[in-house]
Amino acid sequence: MSKISVVIPCYNEYEVIQETNKNVSKVLEDVCKIFQMEYEIIYVNDGSKDNTLQILHFLQDKHNYNEQKLGKINIVSLAKNFGHQAALSAGLHYAKGDAIISIDADLQDPPELIELMIKKWLDGSDVIYGVRTSREGETFFKLLTAKLFYILLRKLTHVDIPIDSGDFRLMSRNALNIFNTLPERNRFIRGMVPWIGLRQEPIYYERSARFAGETKYPFRKMLKLAFDGIISFSNVPLQSAYYFGFIVALLSIIYGFYIVIYSLVKGYPVLGWSSLMVAILFIGAVQLITIGVLGEYIGRIYDEVKKRPLFIVNEKESRLN
Ligand code: UDP
Ligand code: MG
Repeated sequence: MSKISVVIPCYNEYEVIQETNKNVSKVLEDVCKIFQMEYEIIYVNDGSKDNTLQILHFLQDKHNYNEQKLGKINIVSLAKNFGHQAALSAGLHYAKGDAIISIDADLQDPPELIELMIKKWLDGSDVIYGVRTSREGETFFKLLTAKLFYILLRKLTHVDIPIDSGDFRLMSRNALNIFNTLPERNRFIRGMVPWIGLRQEPIYYERSARFAGETKYPFRKMLKLAFDGIISFSNVPLQSAYYFGFIVALLSIIYGFYIVIYSLVKGYPVLGWSSLMVAILFIGAVQLITIGVLGEYIGRIYDEVKKRPLFIVNEKESRLN
């Protein structure tokens, strides 16, 4: 019998998790009845500071002791907050299914689409990923920065990362096994999965607002994810020093000619304080930016060579079947 795993990372989601569990289990029960499958739901508690974990334990007990259910709930609890991408990776690591679905805890991605994903998987696709055609309940700032980010990302990388895709997707066992061999620490999963290749297919949906609670992605975390995305998939920022260098060199040659000709024709040197200041500040700024870019890459190389685990599981709090 085939098994479906659904991985749900949760960070301070006590307001939504019961509703999410209700909806996701209902969809899975229905789908598994139709296709004669079983399922597991893996909740990853990403070091929540509220009572998410207690609610998860409660939901698990209620669910797993019910003989009628076609699947079980598992809980992986991380030792601290490792971030969405690491939490998702933890869940994917423990998933045992033949098809593995990842979905956010806040019901922004409709669980009802799981049925369609499974149909497409049965038709032979390895990855079925959700693409948002619209996004409700997001601030103008988030929509704008997200759009700009995806445009930049596509310009800078060779991987065909779909615009407006998130981490709502189904992966076949084959795709997940390959994914699990990718060791990088600073993860941008929505780029790593398209990078694998195989047969990938989009499904489109309208993203609703969060069911309850607030976004767990403050600007700082968003920026980190954006940097991870660009830096893991592109060396263009690293090479940007060339372009800066060429532009500055060209400007200085033009200006050099101007000064020489000016002083030859007029017979006295140009007063140079302002131009000198501008040139020094400009080149200084370019150098600092370039060093910063180098720092971003070197910091990530450092993370990789330390080879620390991606996530640490708190065995006492986790409950796996
Ligand atoms: N999340 C997590 N760890 C974090 C931040 C977020 O596991 O450090 C989870 C969160 O519980 C949710 C998913 O990642 O299930 C997406 O987060 P959120 O909905 O806050 O992001 P947004 O939809 O606002 O981009
Ligand atoms: Mg959300």
